[in-house]
Amino acid sequence: MGYKNLIDCHSHSNFSRDGKECIENMCQSAYEKGIKVYAITDHCECDLFKSDGYESSTQQSLEKLIELKKEYKEKMKVLVGIELGQPLENTNATNIILSRNYDYVIGSLHRAKGLSDYYFINYKSYSKEKLENLIKKYFEGLLEIAKWNKFDTLAHLTYPLRYIKDNGIDIDISIYDDIIKEIFKTVIQNKKAIEVNTSGLRQSVKKLLPDYKYIKMYKDLGGKYITIGSDSHNSDDVCKGIQEGLEVIKQAGFEYITYFEKREAKFLKIE
Ligand SMILES: [Zn+2]
Ligand SMILES: [Zn+2]
Repeated sequence: MGYKNLIDCHSHSNFSRDGKECIENMCQSAYEKGIKVYAITDHCECDLFKSDGYESSTQQSLEKLIELKKEYKEKMKVLVGIELGQPLENTNATNIILSRNYDYVIGSLHRAKGLSDYYFINYKSYSKEKLENLIKKYFEGLLEIAKWNKFDTLAHLTYPLRYIKDNGIDIDISIYDDIIKEIFKTVIQNKKAIEVNTSGLRQSVKKLLPDYKYIKMYKDLGGKYITIGSDSHNSDDVCKGIQEGLEVIKQAGFEYITYFEKREAKFLKIE
C-alpha cells in the first residue's frame, strides 16, 4: 500500500546541466506517479554563476515553472524551486537569485571552498587523515550556510558519502557528530528545515542522505521541519525512494512533511 500523501521536493530538469529531461516531462511524470506536492529545483552553483551561465538557465527554469504551476493547479501543487549551491561564495549571485519569486530555496554545498565538487574527487588517492579533513571541511562549510540562513531547507546533509562509497570506501561519520549537532541546532533555532534526500538509495551508499540516526538526532534536538526529495535528474527517478523515506521519517517521530510555498513553511501529513 504505502503512503498516499506523496511529495517530492528536490528534482532537476534539463535547465540543470546534469538534468536529462525537459521540465514538462518531469512534471508529467510526477503527476502520473500520484504526487501531491512537487518541486523542481534546478541548480544554481553560485561560484560558477557567470562562467557557467546560471543566471539565464535559472531564469528560464523559473519562467517555465511559473507557467506549469498554473497549468497543474487543479491536479498537483507545483513549487517553483531552486537549489542554491555554495551560496556564500558569490553574494552577488545569491542576491540576484533571492530577489526572484521562488516558492522554495534549497541550500547546498557540493564543494568545499577551493576544492572541486565532492563528486569529482579521487578518494582512493587520499590517506585516512586527509579524507577525514576533507569531510570536516564539508561540515564546517555546511554550518556556515546554516548560519547564513537565507534558504528554506538544507540539502543532503551527508552528500560526500554518496561519492566516497562509489570509490569503495566506507567511512564512519560519527566523528563529526558534534558539528552535525551544531548544524541541526542552528537550523532549528532559525526555523528552517533539514532535507532527507532519497538519491542515496539508488547509489552504492544505499542509504538515505541523511539516514535514520541523523533524522532522529535532529528530531530529538527539537527539529520540526523536514523536507524530502528524490534529487531525480530524469523522469523515471521522480518519486523514487519517497515511500521508504517517509517510513523512516515517520519512525523518527515526525507526523508531517514540510514544504515551502512563497518561502513559507506548509505541512503535509504523513499518511
Ligand atoms: Zn545537491
Ligand atoms: Zn540536486
